[in-house]
Amino acid sequence: MQHVVVLGGSIAGMAAARALRSLGKRVTVVEPDGLAATAARDGVPQSGQLHALLDMGRTQAERWFPGLSKDLVAEGAVLGSGSEIQLFSRGRRKVSVPGNELIGVSRGLLEEHIRRRTLLDDGVSVRAGKACGLVVRDMRVAAVRVRAADSDEVHLVPADAVVDATGRSSRLASWLREEGWPQPPVDRMRIDLGYATARFRRGHELPDVRVAHQLPAAASGTGAQPDTGAMAAVEGDQWMAVIAAYAGMRPTRDPADFRRRMKEMDAGPFGVVADRCELIGEVETYGMAHSLRRRWWEVERLPGGLFVVGDAVASFNPVYGQGMTSALLHASCLAAYLRRGADLRAPAHAYFHHVRVVVNAAWELSTLSDLAQPHVTGPYPRGYPLARKMAEWMEEASTTDAWVNERFLDVVNMRRRPADLQTPRFWWRVAMARARR
Ligand SMILES: Cc1cc2nc3c(=O)[nH]c(=O)nc-3n(C[C@H](O)[C@H](O)[C@H](O)COP(=O)(O)OP(=O)(O)OC[C@H]3O[C@@H](n4cnc5c(N)ncnc54)[C@H](O)[C@@H]3O)c2cc1C
Repeated sequence: MQHVVVLGGSIAGMAAARALRSLGKRVTVVEPDGLAATAARDGVPQSGQLHALLDMGRTQAERWFPGLSKDLVAEGAVLGSGSEIQLFSRGRRKVSVPGNELIGVSRGLLEEHIRRRTLLDDGVSVRAGKACGLVVRDMRVAAVRVRAADSDEVHLVPADAVVDATGRSSRLASWLREEGWPQPPVDRMRIDLGYATARFRRGHELPDVRVAHQLPAAASGTGAQPDTGAMAAVEGDQWMAVIAAYAGMRPTRDPADFRRRMKEMDAGPFGVVADRCELIGEVETYGMAHSLRRRWWEVERLPGGLFVVGDAVASFNPVYGQGMTSALLHASCLAAYLRRGADLRAPAHAYFHHVRVVVNAAWELSTLSDLAQPHVTGPYPRGYPLARKMAEWMEEASTTDAWVNERFLDVVNMRRRPADLQTPRFWWRVAMARARR
């Protein structure tokens, strides 16, 4: 059996391990935390923040972990659909899309299930330690250097292939440079984002709501930036609510400030929870300076047997909730690539070309919205002014026209690519909705 070493045991690493097992590979997951079964791990500092699993993410999660949604619901996660999912844009509630579903679950519980299911498999083992370099021999990855969790000793773990799933702070590019290999070009878009999540006790205050989302909006004429927010009913009879804002407007850990900002949102459910529900624990904050994309598909000379998945390839502004879904899709790209008979130990250019499609669709959507913020200063893609205008028209039309909103949500949920909206029928409906207004 070929042996693959997966670096990092979070969502991307576990999904990749599962995909590799479906192809009969033996997998070792290297993880500094050693994957003790606690929900919050040091290696995933964002795990206390509300995480939305987009619809495509749930489809992919079900593919790799069949029955996952049912198991999560049995543990208290909450599946919302249709009008129970309330989206607000520029002060108005958007028309609901029947059949649209979203699962409310904490990141900790979701990850715990994914990890437990992956590690039940005898073909997957865990090595507690931190990857700190690669050994490349005969143009192929041959081993990983791993620093032991409990000492400074570095051991070599032999591998037929290596999957980097170490997240956004991946050091893979510098390890390759040390071995004389080229690095991928990197795009960084400064977003200066502040995030804060709080949990509230959930009673019967909002019987018809499972998820509410105040969508990102451009700054007003005075330059004031409205908060973006999301809240979801999750396990433990709780609401998890997140507030996101940029630059000088970042939310703080002060509970009174958090409640005040919830009440100021146009989306009514936030005010109801802020007024009526007891806050549990502390407000957790998180800062993200920039979105990041590493264009591995442009590297012409790659060692054989090297793959990258999840945030290690690209990590976006989290307000669009694309990270876990992208990670799960990358695992599917890996399986598709190997299932077509590719040699595991060859340079994986075709794999990175699959991944490019997923990464670029998510990047296009999130950066187009971020560029509307006054403090985000580029880089602007070609044709940006027109693309921005069209995005505004589409956003407006999707507030009132269910057909347009359904297609728009397909893209937001990563079921389709942004390019799929470029049809005459779609833009005709957008124009009609504008004319009616
Ligand atoms: C504030 C915030 C909110 C978010 N909200 C959402 C959301 O609503 N929806 C969504 O889909 N996504 C969201 N995301 C993104 C999501 O958290 C990630 O996309 C997701 O966790 C997949 O990442 P990953 O597995 O690639 O990396 P991570 O989850 O970051 O995990 C990296 C893993 O690698 C391990 N590791 C690191 N270095 C090494 C090393 N040298 N050797 C071995 N192991 C190593 C770490 O311990 C960790 O386990 C959010 C992110 C942030 C920051």
